Amino acid sequence: MSQNSDGPTPPDGLPDSLVAELGDLSLEDLRRTIVHAQELLQHQADAPSLIELNPGENVIRIEEQDGYTEVVKTVPCAEGCEDCPHGPYLYHVTEEQRPEGGTHTHWTLIGEVAPEEDD
Ligand SMILES: [Zn+2]
Repeated sequence: MSQNSDGPTPPDGLPDSLVAELGDLSLEDLRRTIVHAQELLQHQADAPSLIELNPGENVIRIEEQDGYTEVVKTVPCAEGCEDCPHGPYLYHVTEEQRPEGGTHTHWTLIGEVAPEEDD
C-alpha cells in the first residue's frame, strides 16, 4: 500500500515536509499558497539573472550598482594547480543589448581584491 494512494503524487524533488504541510492545508490556504508561489516566481523572474558561473567558480559577493553588477568571485585555472582557486577577483558585469535582439553579458575584470576576513 502506498501512502499516496488516496491523493495526487507530488512532483519528484518536492521536500517531504512541504508535501506534508500542503496536504494539511484547507482549500483557502492552498489558494493563498498558489498566489504567494506565483508572486515569488514573478519576483525571481524580475531579479537579474545575468550572473552565470563556470564550474568551479565561487561567488563571494554580488552587489547591484547603478548600471552594473559588482561580482567578487574566485576562479580555478587548471587541474593540478596547487594555488587554485585564484582571486578573489572583482568584476563589473553589464548586460548589453544585442542589435539582433536579446542580451549579452559583459564581464570586465577590475582586479584582485583582498580576501574578506571572517571574524
Ligand atoms: Zn590555479
